[in-house]
Amino acid sequence: MYTLSGLTQKEFENITNELKASKFRARQIHNWIYLKSVSSIDEMTDLSVKFREELKKVAKVSDTKIKVKQVSSDGTIKYLLEYPDGECVETVLMRFDNRANLTACVSSQVGCAVNCSFCATGKRGFIRNLTYKEIIEQVLTIQRDTGLKVTNVVFMGQGEPLLNLDNVLKAMEIFNEDFQIGARRLTVSTSGIIPQINKLAELDMQSTLAISLHAPNHNIRKQLMQIEDKYNMTNLKKALKNYVDKTGRRITIEYLLIKDLNDTIDSAKELAQYLHDIKCNINLIPYNPTAENDYQRPSNNSIMKFKYLLEHSGKKVTVRLERGADIDAACGQLRGKID
Ligand code: SAH
Ligand code: SF4
Repeated sequence: MYTLSGLTQKEFENITNELKASKFRARQIHNWIYLKSVSSIDEMTDLSVKFREELKKVAKVSDTKIKVKQVSSDGTIKYLLEYPDGECVETVLMRFDNRANLTACVSSQVGCAVNCSFCATGKRGFIRNLTYKEIIEQVLTIQRDTGLKVTNVVFMGQGEPLLNLDNVLKAMEIFNEDFQIGARRLTVSTSGIIPQINKLAELDMQSTLAISLHAPNHNIRKQLMQIEDKYNMTNLKKALKNYVDKTGRRITIEYLLIKDLNDTIDSAKELAQYLHDIKCNINLIPYNPTAENDYQRPSNNSIMKFKYLLEHSGKKVTVRLERGADIDAACGQLRGKID
């Protein structure tokens, strides 16, 4: 039995060949899956009833279940999805009132091996990689469930995308070619896996690279992210400069702000110094509470002060809007299970 979600045009053609139908039918099925996101073969109304019956004998649309769906007061929707082997991940859809953008925040792994001290996902440890089909199925599920077309995808859900790079790259290719989402509307966020950043630099992609830096120096980063022992900020900087040189693209630096830990004036100055020769925008993420630790979110006043100091150094700085915190859908709150 084929699962149509996740197949490429070539694979649709193999199925239509098998059923002795034309290539044009393959294109129609393709569009029903990726652009119109139907839930059943019966909804593919420009296929004859007879052909639909034949198709139903060999194929189904999807094999992923929505286990839980939560809607936040700000319109953010969080899904807990279950794959056929019983493993679950979360996927979040964010709408921004003032924009037509619909952004899907997708997971790339079940759990995560990087184990950052502030992150709920890391606490589960690493369970397994998602296949590219499982990654794109997250966006298809959102589209099927809401009837809306996703316009942007960020790999900022559970998992470290660069430790599952082949599947992530294949999923990005499908988002680009089959979903027709422009490469610039795709963002991969990483905790800083240097060899894979170098690999992305070679591929010279148009998508955005976001780096979870979160600290102005080695000592603070080490407290937050064990990965600093393996891929430290000095070497990371070389990789980032190489990436900018090779691609010409501006990087996004993500900086989690935790009260009294990395939100001081000294930290802002040190961060500005570290970033002064890297072509980047900075996205400040006020810490979202998770049950696993007792870090605190800084006051709005210190967030604004930190922002001002960085702006003063000539960078473009944004503060990430908190989305869906009332349903634990905000950054770092995804754990991929029901409590
Ligand atoms: N593993 C990748 C992709 C996940 S992105 C990475 O870490 O970049 C998830 C983003 O949310 C990262 O920038 C992460 O640092 C941030 N995050 C994790 N825990 C958080 C928390 N408790 N509050 C706010 N942001 C958090
Ligand atoms: Fe993994 Fe990213 Fe969470 Fe760190 S922040 S544990 S890299 S998902």
